Amino acid sequence: MDTVTREEIAERRRLASMRLQQYEERREAWAAMHGGLKESHGHCCLRRLQGLKCLKYHQKGCEDCDRAEANRTIWDHPTIWIKGGKPYMIVLHPYYVRDDELNQLQQLCGSRGLVCNVRPKEESFYLPGGTWMIEISRKVTAEISEEDRLKSLTLITSI
Ligand SMILES: [Zn+2]
Repeated sequence: MDTVTREEIAERRRLASMRLQQYEERREAWAAMHGGLKESHGHCCLRRLQGLKCLKYHQKGCEDCDRAEANRTIWDHPTIWIKGGKPYMIVLHPYYVRDDELNQLQQLCGSRGLVCNVRPKEESFYLPGGTWMIEISRKVTAEISEEDRLKSLTLITSI
């Protein structure tokens, strides 16, 4: 017999909708902190950050996308963000970050003129305290000061 009451179902729905709203608020605050980023639904491909096309649908395929696919532990919950109409940042939210995987990613980014910035779990907009947040962008991208990041974090609704 199902023992879940109508009130319990309503409460679960209320909590789920509250969590979703908080998640959206965190994402929006993070995107605003970076000067108004918009999420793109295209491939989360390092080539796109370099102003190149992703080769996923080319005959030989895309080496960068294949590598990301093979490194799912670090390449978890990837999103790609646009600024001024151009791919600007890729964000990963892995639960675990292994040193060897991170070193590999940092080397790859370095060889492409990109940087990957590992942020503390508390700053993760995906799951604060649960996942790390890795921001990958061009080296020339203006750095955000720790002070500005803190200010932005205090605007985010705590859970
Ligand atoms: Zn690609």
